[in-house]
Parts: sequence; structure tokens; C-alpha cells
Amino acid sequence: MTEDTIFAVASGAGRAPIAVMRLSGAQSGPALASFCLGRLPPPRVASLRRLRNASGETLDQALVLWFPGPATETGEDSAELHVHGGRAVIEAVSDVLIAAGLRPAEPGEFTRRAFLNGRLDLVQAEAVHDLVFAETTAQRRQALRQMEGELGALYHGWSDRLRSVLAHQEALIDFPDEDLPPEVEAELLAAMRDVRAGIAAHLDDAGRGEKLREGLFFAITGAPNVGKSSLINALAGRDVAIVSAIPGTTRDALETRVVLGGVPVTLVDTAGLRETADILEAEGVRRALARAEEADMVIEVVEAGEPARQTAHGSADRLVVANKCDLGGSAQVGTLPVSALTGEGLTALRERLAQAATALTASAGPPPLTRARHRAALRDALDRLTAAERADLPELRAEDLRLAMRALGRITGQVGVEDILDTLFREFCIGK
Ligand code: GDP
Repeated sequence: MTEDTIFAVASGAGRAPIAVMRLSGAQSGPALASFCLGRLPPPRVASLRRLRNASGETLDQALVLWFPGPATETGEDSAELHVHGGRAVIEAVSDVLIAAGLRPAEPGEFTRRAFLNGRLDLVQAEAVHDLVFAETTAQRRQALRQMEGELGALYHGWSDRLRSVLAHQEALIDFPDEDLPPEVEAELLAAMRDVRAGIAAHLDDAGRGEKLREGLFFAITGAPNVGKSSLINALAGRDVAIVSAIPGTTRDALETRVVLGGVPVTLVDTAGLRETADILEAEGVRRALARAEEADMVIEVVEAGEPARQTAHGSADRLVVANKCDLGGSAQVGTLPVSALTGEGLTALRERLAQAATALTASAGPPPLTRARHRAALRDALDRLTAAERADLPELRAEDLRLAMRALGRITGQVGVEDILDTLFREFCIGK
């Protein structure tokens, strides 16, 4: 059964000078040729062509690219049409494609085909999604690293090591009479422990990668009227919160998104939220409060000269900001003097917050965990490995190892353990 050939506008909705239309599947070549008087342009070279419909009418002048498979992004024959962005152009070209038997692509279908055709593993496919949605420099870097295969390589590496352990373990089961050196058992255990330690260290990362993907939450606390809204406005560089001289009027400052140190950070004015009595806002307030409970950092605002309140906020980092320093009050030791009104100290505040954001998300060394899906599967693998180490029967250990590998395989999308025999043959000279 041959798969459908799909097409989609890849350059996004809305008016733009150029729209990029992608085609993928066996009919890409014939469809492209039918636009261009039956002739395909040379592969992988941008060529300017008149696109014609079946009756020979020119629909547009476009840059077209022909990518014969399988060395393409999806692994299939593919093409790109860079047409003018008008809706009528896109519709006319789409009509021709549909008449030729192509169909509009489902969301994510190109990447899905790339995965099914082995051009990407699941972790890389997820990174493509993250790269498309990356809003900040740090997010882009993390997604790119993952898309280039670094994270997947880590998981594949563990899986490969376990496959080798399992192959040896199976040999112990299948050929109990062979004289295997006694250190083999110890080596197997050591390799298992090593992989388990690697997974445990990877899991124990304070959620840095996930936090960078999803963004951080900084809660702003403080008494009414100390200038929380004014500070949020100053940090965001726009009038997002309503500033008022009447206490407790922070209403629509539910959440404000800013970028600090290349990391997306949502600032939540919790104190203002608590004071909000508006029923209509109740649900929004409840959600924002729930999120702020898990804030990565608490910024407590006091008036210069006033002491901090030392509110307990779990394990979050804490920074005390002494606002209104323009009024002459002197900031207490350990607090950061600022003035939302004059802008004094705001650069230092931004720097402190950016440092905190970077510290909470930066990860040195191997690429970080980025998704709850991976975390769950890794926890599973860890449990299976712990069980494998404790198992006293070789058959039970082999089963636990298989389950640990399956858990890892679920992450990269390569479940299946039939290939252990290959490893066995390669590493053991059974036929001798
Ligand atoms: P919130 O209730 O903590 O959100 O406080 P607001 O941001 O609404 O500010 C309360 C009042 O303090 C407003 O009248 C602001 O103009 C004023 N205010 C805020 N920041 C400063 C500052 O740095 N200096 C001075 N002098 N007034 C400020």
C-alpha cells in the first residue's frame, strides 16, 4: 500500500510576500512536473518556473525545488514551491495538487513521516517541535542540541550498553555448561550499575531542561502599594499592569511574560492576586496562585527603609527588593535598592534576575532532560535496573533488563529487542 502524498503551506498563516508549500510522497515528482510543462527541475536546485494549471493558465511565477528521496527530510520524494503569498495563489496551487490526488497534511505529518522513515528518532522529532516554538535564545540552543541528536545519543548509548549486558546474560542462560570466566557476572553487574548511575544523575537535574522549555515562574510578593505593579511594568518595559495609588488594585497583572538571560520568565504578582475580589477573575486568579506556589524564585518587594517580611516559600530562591529608594529611605543590608519611578537600580535588578534564570536552567555537560514523557520512562528504566541488580535468577534478571531497555526504547521510539541476537553473535564466538 502506497502512502498518500501530502502538501501544506509550511510558512504559517497570514499574509506574507512568499508562502512556502511543501509536498511529500510518491506523487510529489509527477505533481511538480505537471506544473512545469511536464519537466522536473534539477534536484536540489532552486529553479524559477511558471506554475501552470491543467488548461495551461499561469498561476504564478515561483521558485521550485525538487528533492528526490530517500535522502530528504521525510525520507520520501519531496518538493517545495515558494509561491507569492496571496490567498488566491495558494488556493489555485492547492486546487491543482488536490486534483492530482494529493491531500492536505495533518498537523506534524511531515515530521511523523521523517520518524517513521527513520530520518529522526522520537526525541529529535520532539525537538523539531520545540525549535518551531522556541521563543528565546536559550530555548533555541537547547532544542537545536536535541534535534541534532545529542539527547537521543545519550539514551541510545544506555540502551546499547544494556543490550550488550542482556546478550551476555542470555548466553549464561542458554549455555550454562560453557565454562564462562567468573568475572563475567561481576562485569555485567558493574555495567548495569554504571548505566543506572548515569540515568539517576540525568534524572536528578532539578528539572532544568524542562524549566527552560516551559519557562520559569517568579512570584512577586509584598504589601499593598509598595510598587509591585510598577516594578513589573518597568521590567516588562510596557504598561501591562494597572498602577494605582489605591491599595489592592492590581487586576489584570495576572501573569507577565518577560525574557531574562535568554529564558522565558512569567512574573506573577501574588499579593495583588490575593486582593482581587472580582468573581469573573476568580478562576484565573486561582490558577495563577497555584502556579506561583511552585515559583522558582520569590521577589519580595518592600519600601526602602522597611524590613523584609521573611515569608516562607518552599525551596525557591529569594530576593528582597527595596523599592521607592528615590524617597530617601535607605535600603537594608542584603536588599537591592531600586526605584520603579526613576529607573534607578533596575539594570542591577534585571541582571540579578537574569543570573537567577540562567542558574535555574543552565546545564553543563550532557544535554538535559526536557520532557515529562522522558522523565517517566527513565524512572521506569531505573526501577527495572534496580530490580535487575537484585534478581537472583538469571532469567528474571534478563527480563528486568529487557523491560529497562523497552522503557528507554519508548523514549526514542525504537522499542524492540529482537536485535540482541546480533549483538550476541558479534561479541561471543559461539560457533567455535
Ligand atoms: P502595588 O500595589 O505594590 O502593585 O503598587 P503600585 O505599583 O500600584 O504602586 C503604588 C503607588 O506607589 C503608585 O502610586 C506608584 O506610582 C507608586 N510608586 C511605585 N514605585 C515607586 C517608586 O519607585 N518611587 C515612588 N516615589 N513611587 C512609586
